[in-house]
Amino acid sequence: MTKHLNISQLLMALFLVLFLNPINSQKRIFNYSDGPYVFFEGDTTQIYWMKKGKLELATYIDSIVQREDAPQINDQPVDFYFDLVQRDIPLDHQVEYNDIPKVAAISDIHGQYDIMFDLLSSNGIIDDEGNWHFGDGHLVITGDIFDRGDKVLEIVWFLIDLERQAKAAGGKVHTLIGNHEWMVLSSDVRYIHKKYRYVSALFKKQYNLLFGHDSFIGNWLRSKPIYVKINGTGFVHGGISEELFDYTNMEDLNTIYYEEVLSQDTLKNSALADFLTNTESPLWFRGYAYEGEYDERRTKKLLKKMNADRIVVGHTSMPNIFSINNNRIIFIDSSIKLGKGGEMLIVKGNKFYSCDTEGNQKRL
Ligand code: CA
Repeated sequence: MTKHLNISQLLMALFLVLFLNPINSQKRIFNYSDGPYVFFEGDTTQIYWMKKGKLELATYIDSIVQREDAPQINDQPVDFYFDLVQRDIPLDHQVEYNDIPKVAAISDIHGQYDIMFDLLSSNGIIDDEGNWHFGDGHLVITGDIFDRGDKVLEIVWFLIDLERQAKAAGGKVHTLIGNHEWMVLSSDVRYIHKKYRYVSALFKKQYNLLFGHDSFIGNWLRSKPIYVKINGTGFVHGGISEELFDYTNMEDLNTIYYEEVLSQDTLKNSALADFLTNTESPLWFRGYAYEGEYDERRTKKLLKKMNADRIVVGHTSMPNIFSINNNRIIFIDSSIKLGKGGEMLIVKGNKFYSCDTEGNQKRL
């Protein structure tokens, strides 16, 4: 409980805890730990987490949860906390960033928290404790932190804390939306790990409702961009197809996605919404990976339309990070999802490096 409650707040909190007690007496059907899941109800912030298959609840009257008051899950690889639970999360829609001294990117983590941690720590983005170590650099997560693996929430809370630390150091974490984030938000649960089926059952809620408009993580996800351009390099989960320019432009892409797709409970019945969620859309497009589709001429023409020098994409899984057309298209989904290792991208000036979990950096 927060430390500065008055008597009536304390009684109310006690009442809420007792009232919701039946949840706590539920039979343990599995041993997973997960969470926390944060929901807003009226003036209260309710934080649920699971310890060895048992759902626990804390109710906070404040909307700000101090670090020392936050629940922690002891058997997770690291203790994770959150400092600030805000109801209004500012939209992270700025498209262009210039003169950024250091840039790194990692993609398609898919619940593989440990591999992500190894990549970031071996390559100087975080220290051994998981704290931001990249100064005024920018780290881009090019989508698909959700689905497949079983440490999705660990990644979410890690990134929320890392964002705060990066900002304080003059840097930034850009968490881009991938098709799997949208799939979860729109209740396509085909790819969730079985752990989350149990979580969903324990909550007696459809999985997507754990990330609804009354939830902190849901609002955090919805605030995220689709596309960002740093020092002339564009980053997007799937890719930018020429068809996109029939519907919108790069400057409006983040806002349009928010308005048409991410902020909606059911997809709008419009040609634009259809495009934004089909296989030619920035979240699903795989065209660059088809051999011979994007030669240098077509790539240059596309990049000119995008007003970018190059594009970095995830989504299409490869054994290693690699590039085509003189580093104009860089593929960075290095199959982290298989749980066996992977690579991340580091940009130093005009040089691009694929970096592994041992900290080996190889120039592209
Ligand atoms: Ca994907």
